[in-house]
Amino acid sequence: MTLSGSAPGSDDAEPETRETRDSRYRFLIRLWPRIRPHRPALIGAIVLIILGTIIGLAFPLIVRDLLDAAFEVGDRGMLNRIALFLMGLFLLQAVVNFGQSYLAAAVSERIVARLRKDLFSHLMAQPPGFFARRRVGELSSRLASDAGLIQSILRFGIPELVRQGLFLLGALVLVTIAHPRLTLVTMIAIPPTVVAGWLLGRRVRRLSTGIQDRLADAVSRAEQVFTQITTVQSFTREGWEEERFSTDVNATRDIGLHRAVARALLTGTVSFTAFGAIALVLWEGGRLVLEGALTPGTLVAFLLYAVLIAGAVTSLAGFWGNLQEASGAARRIFGLLDLKVELQEPAEPRSLPTPLEGRVRYRDVQFRYGPDLPRVLHGIELEIQPGETVALVGASGAGKSTLAALLPRFYDVEGGTVQVDGIDVREVRLADLRARIGLVPQEPMLFAGTVRENLRYGNPDAGDDEVETAAREAHAHEFISRLPKGYDAVIGERGITLSAGQRQRMAIARVMLKAPTILILDEASSALDAESERLVQDALDRLMEGRTTLVIAHRLSTILRADRILVLDQGEIAARGRHRELLESSELYARLYRRQFDDAMASSSAPTPDSGSSEPAVSVSEVSDG
Ligand code: ADP
Repeated sequence: MTLSGSAPGSDDAEPETRETRDSRYRFLIRLWPRIRPHRPALIGAIVLIILGTIIGLAFPLIVRDLLDAAFEVGDRGMLNRIALFLMGLFLLQAVVNFGQSYLAAAVSERIVARLRKDLFSHLMAQPPGFFARRRVGELSSRLASDAGLIQSILRFGIPELVRQGLFLLGALVLVTIAHPRLTLVTMIAIPPTVVAGWLLGRRVRRLSTGIQDRLADAVSRAEQVFTQITTVQSFTREGWEEERFSTDVNATRDIGLHRAVARALLTGTVSFTAFGAIALVLWEGGRLVLEGALTPGTLVAFLLYAVLIAGAVTSLAGFWGNLQEASGAARRIFGLLDLKVELQEPAEPRSLPTPLEGRVRYRDVQFRYGPDLPRVLHGIELEIQPGETVALVGASGAGKSTLAALLPRFYDVEGGTVQVDGIDVREVRLADLRARIGLVPQEPMLFAGTVRENLRYGNPDAGDDEVETAAREAHAHEFISRLPKGYDAVIGERGITLSAGQRQRMAIARVMLKAPTILILDEASSALDAESERLVQDALDRLMEGRTTLVIAHRLSTILRADRILVLDQGEIAARGRHRELLESSELYARLYRRQFDDAMASSSAPTPDSGSSEPAVSVSEVSDG
């Protein structure tokens, strides 16, 4: 859970129920403020749609005149003129369609691009815990496919709705005026089409949702397998995973087949009723022509209207499916956009002094990750002097990472204050605060891109020589120069993967380029080989020089050298002092220390408490929280 970041109800993950389904069209309505600024283009598109509809409606009438000119009047000149006029009209229609289609595309592309950018920024402002409890794939699919669904409804769905709606109305009025009796015959086809479209359409949609769900299960399963491939392979569970995947995929296939039947029935029914109506019109119309009550041209015009009306009805029936899909997408997107940005920027921000001294103070800090969650930190009192190194130790879950995360204000305190140089971190701009704090995470990840780009993440303005200096300082230069393209090698490509120790040194170089006053180190809990360890340690020493450092300690050398050690126990500071004092005064510390460092002790000259256990150096149950 995030720090009260997810107020109950703001979670978008609840399954769709009947109640939400009824009210969900309102999410589409919420697109309106985003559409409104494009009003001129929108009006243009509507005018063009109306024009296109008028042309479409006129077409059967012109055909009537053309045919009657040929069959009834026998006027060749008139025939030519009408044919020419018809060509001109179609040309105009092509231009109108082009314009309308372009305007709809332009507006929808812009709206959806904006929506994607807003969503991305909004998500980036969420606290780290938000991402910990969500599947990243789910968020990516909001950005990609859900936004895509909205685009397609704006681009095709709504213009089509307007066009076909207008067309249907216009055509019905025209045929009724022209020939009420024939219209009645045509209308016979409409009820069965609508009923079939509604019933079967509903079934198709329901099956489609089923397919989406099962497919999502399969894909997310695959995603997990890919990210944990070593676990799968080491337990040789490929066969089992294959079966699980197959189950979902087979279910998808089976529902897909049901859907195919429903779809085929739908198409069949619609085409039968449409062509049946045409046959009826021909039959009744033919009789009228024989009686001399109707010209052949009028009959053909009628036929054309019947076909076009059937087309409009079918396409309107299909529209509801798309509309529901798009509403679902809008609901999910707005669900995310509605999440409050928990960390408010101060209305009147204070500036941190430059240069910053780097004095850090926690005053009676209380914290919990959410209103309904237990308190994680209780009354933390801590002062770190400029340049001082404070090591945090404690069992897993004691609150070390949480305590550290409050300093760059990843979360806000529930009570008390966190101060930097005497200023409450909530009173300065987030960017200003975070610019002064460097973070070396436990298991640094690098971005896909070149080594140089990754290092420059710490300071985009750094020149090539600065990048290299930082890399040298961090003992990264040596291995970087051995890469095929050196600083321009692309990480993740052609087998360029870096070892844990190399990634750590990259992360250190990155922070060196940033040159912050305050450092937060989350030491890796898994041991590197001795040589890597030495290089990382040396790089860290250089990084820490002259900087205020808060370190979540897992290395013996770190706690031995820290100016002060803080022992956290269930969110409280249980003891503080230097290593030797604590060994004497704190039973908890002595216990933690024995458990964690017994092995390391063997090879170190540090004072040895009684060493009973033979656990490996870093086997403490510390599990990375990322
Ligand atoms: P440590 O770093 O000492 O292992 P943490 O600060 O990670 O401890 O965790 C302290 C407590 O807060 C634990 O009980 C943990 O379960 C809880 N916790 C940590 N992160 C979150 C989070 N994002 N949401 C909810 N609870 C969390």
